[in-house]
Amino acid sequence: MTRTAYVNGRYLHHGEAAVHVEDRGYQFADGVYEVLAIHQGRPMDLQGHMERLGRSLGELGISWPVSKRALSVVMNEVIRKNRLKEGFLYLQITRGVAPRNHAFPKDCDPSLVMTVWRRRPLVSPIDEIGVEVITIPDIRWRRCDIKSVSLLPNVLGKQQAVEAGAYEAWMVDSDGYVTEGTSSNAWIVTPSNQLITRDASRAILNGITRLAVLGLAQANSMDFVERAFTVEEAKGAKEAFVTSTTSLVKPVASIDGTKIGDGGAGPLSAKIAAFYAQHLEGQGSAA
Ligand code: PMP
Repeated sequence: MTRTAYVNGRYLHHGEAAVHVEDRGYQFADGVYEVLAIHQGRPMDLQGHMERLGRSLGELGISWPVSKRALSVVMNEVIRKNRLKEGFLYLQITRGVAPRNHAFPKDCDPSLVMTVWRRRPLVSPIDEIGVEVITIPDIRWRRCDIKSVSLLPNVLGKQQAVEAGAYEAWMVDSDGYVTEGTSSNAWIVTPSNQLITRDASRAILNGITRLAVLGLAQANSMDFVERAFTVEEAKGAKEAFVTSTTSLVKPVASIDGTKIGDGGAGPLSAKIAAFYAQHLEGQGSAA
């Protein structure tokens, strides 16, 4: 099936969709993005993604390219034109096209791009086999809370993971604490069954999946704390998992080769994955 992309007011064949060579996203990574899961033809956690997008834009002083209402109309049109039932929608807003100069241009309309990709039905039982994680130094800037398209350290980190035969790299700050994965948030379960993920600050991206899981943990009276944890603590954890829009809740089998639990999905991770699946299912068209 052909894919349709949206570029600044036009719906184009995916293969022909392009932005100008002087787009500031291309030249300076001067832009932000969101990735939304589409389930049963609907965007999941739309409000959370829109709020985070608004926050990222605000922090960089980029204005909305169209109203929020129009943005959601375009989003639905992209989903409809692609007949997308299960997959993801990528949305990017940059400061726009202007002659190359570091300072903000005076008159510049933000660029808006959307693309989609398909995948198997989103909601499935948790993977029984966990993934491998390596740890690497966190070499990013100090505003990781902004969902900026400037992802070079994340790209390099993920490549290191791939080359090590791992799924994800957990980045570690200069004090030895895990910040997050290159494209996911990091979680552990302590020997006393407490769920831990790093507190939301400028050091991490506050994942929409992270927020959903925290809400589900609270709603189900689970014991959880938002705090930093060291690599050593993570290696001694009973369970570990990662969360993201594309990975959902994914168990971690090992960290730097140290086996976590029995290497599969631990009971708490499995419970959380099931709650999260229900959370998505509840937003589908069947609801
Ligand atoms: N941290 C980073 C660095 C990410 O790139 C992502 C995925 N965009 C996440 C965390 C998870 O965020 P979300 O749950 O919103 O996909």
